[in-house]
Amino acid sequence: MAISAVSADLKLCPVLIDGKHQPSRGETHVQVNPATGQPSALIPYCTSEEISLAIASAQRAFPAWSATPVLQRARIMFRYRQVLEAHQEELATLVTEEHGKTLAEAQASLARGLECVEFAAGAPSLMMGESLPRVGSDVDTTSIREPLGVCAGITPFNFPLMVPLWMFPMAIACGNTFVLKPSEKVPRSAVRVAELLYEAGLPEGVLNVVHGDKGAVDVLLTDPRVRAVSFVGSSPVAKYIYSTAAAHGKRVQAMGGAKNHSVVMPDCNLKAAVESVMASSFGCAGERCVATSVVVAVGDIGDKLVAELCQAADQMRVGAGDEARCDMGPLVTVEHRDRVLKYIDIGEKEGAKVARDGRQDSAARADGYFVGPTIFDEVKPEMRIAKEEIFGPVLSVIRARDLNEAMQVVNASEHGNAASIYTRSGESAKKFAAAVQSGMVGVNLGVPAPVAIFPFSGWKNSFFGDAHALGKDAVRFFTESKVVTSRWPE
Ligand code: NAD
Repeated sequence: MAISAVSADLKLCPVLIDGKHQPSRGETHVQVNPATGQPSALIPYCTSEEISLAIASAQRAFPAWSATPVLQRARIMFRYRQVLEAHQEELATLVTEEHGKTLAEAQASLARGLECVEFAAGAPSLMMGESLPRVGSDVDTTSIREPLGVCAGITPFNFPLMVPLWMFPMAIACGNTFVLKPSEKVPRSAVRVAELLYEAGLPEGVLNVVHGDKGAVDVLLTDPRVRAVSFVGSSPVAKYIYSTAAAHGKRVQAMGGAKNHSVVMPDCNLKAAVESVMASSFGCAGERCVATSVVVAVGDIGDKLVAELCQAADQMRVGAGDEARCDMGPLVTVEHRDRVLKYIDIGEKEGAKVARDGRQDSAARADGYFVGPTIFDEVKPEMRIAKEEIFGPVLSVIRARDLNEAMQVVNASEHGNAASIYTRSGESAKKFAAAVQSGMVGVNLGVPAPVAIFPFSGWKNSFFGDAHALGKDAVRFFTESKVVTSRWPE
C-alpha cells in the first residue's frame, strides 16, 4: 500500500547503518496488520545511495572486525543469545503483529533462531583449520579459514526473525560484516533483532539493515564491494538472485520455494499421522517452506485419512494470532490471501473435490486476511494445485496404489525441499529415504527442518548454489580457505 491519507502517527521502521537509526529519503509504504486490516507502521524503501552507504559502513567495519579474535566474536554471540531470550515476549509480539502467525508459533520461531545463535557461538572450533607437519623435508602445511568481507542477506516474509538469524550470526561470528535486506512485508522484527546484537556489544557498522524490494536487492547483487549473497524466498527470485549475483562475481546461496509431499502408508499410526500432517499443513497458516502441501494416501487408507483430517480441521480455531486459544492466524497480506483463494477456485475448476472449505470459516469473513484450513480430495498429480506452490492453508490429497506409485508422484515435483513418510515399516521408511529426491526427509514427522547444526538442504528448484544455509555448509559459505605451506630450513 503506498502512503496516502494514512495517519501520520504511524511509527516509521528504522534503517540501521553504522549501528544507528538513519533517516531515509526513499518512498514510504504502509504496513498493515494482517489480523485487523489496519495500518500498523510505515516502511521506508531505501534509495540506492542509502544502500551504498550501508555497504560502505560494513566495508569500513571489516578490517577491525575480522582482526578481532574469534573467541571475542563468539563471546558476543553468547551475550546475544541472552539478550534475545530476555526480549522473547517483545519479539514474539512483534512477529505476530507484522506477520500474523500465532504467538506460540512466533515463540517457536525465535527458539529455532536461538539455535542458530548458539551454533554461531561455536565459531572458534568450527573455523579451525587442519595442519600436517613434514609434508616435505622441512615443509609444513596448514589450512585456515578466513572471512570473506561484506556479505548480504535477503530474506522472505514467512519467518520475519528466524530466517535473518539463519544468516547474520554465523556470517558475523566468522569475521564478516553484513548488510541485511529483510522482506519489505515484515522488516520490523529484523531491525529489532539487529538492534539487540548491538546491545550485546557488536561494534558499529558490522551489521546494517536496509529496506526495499527489487530495487534495493539489485544494488546488493551488483555492488563490487559485496562478496557473498545469502537469499531465501520464492524459486523464480532465487534463480534470478543466483544468476545475477554470480555474474557479478559473488558467492551465492539461494534457497527457493517448495511443494512438499507426505506419503501416508496404510500401516501407519493413523492418529499420530493425522496430528502431524495437520501441524505441517496448517501450522503457520501453511506459510512455511517445509509445510506439507500434498498428501499421498497409499492403498485403502485414503477415505479414513481424509475424514479424520477434515474432522481435525473443524476443530482448529482460526483468528488473530494474539488471541488466546488461537491455532491459526491470517495470511500475511491481502494480495497473498487473494492468491491463495484463487488457487482454491483453480482446484475446484480442475475437478478436485473440496472436502473441507476454509472459505466458509467465520474468521474468513472478518476484516483480517483469513482463510480456514482447506482440504481437496480426489486430486490428480497433473492438476495445478498438486504442482504449484500455494503457500497457504490448502492441502491436496492424491491417492496411490502402492509406495512405488507414491514415490513417482513425489519425485515428479520440480521442487525438492522436504518430504515425509508415515509408516510402521522400517523397510518402507528406508526405501523412501533412499529414493526420495528431496533434501530434507521426515520419517513419522511432518516438519523435517533440521536443527541448526545440520544444513537446510533443499534440492532441485528449492535451492541454487553449492553450500546450503546452516550446519558446516554455513561455515564454508561464509569463509574462504587458505593453505599455507612453509619451509624453515635447519
Ligand atoms: P519472495 O521471493 O517474493 O521475496 C523474498 C525476498 O526477495 C524479499 O526480500 C523481496 O523483497 C525480494 N524480492 C522479491 N522480488 C524480487 C525480485 N524480482 N528481484 C529481487 N528481489 C526480489 O518470497 P516471499 O514471498 O517473501 O517468501 C515466500 C517464499 O519463500 C516461498 O516461496 C517459500 O517457499 C520461500 N521460502 C523458502 C525457504 C527455504 O529455505 N527454501 C524458507 C522460507 C521461505
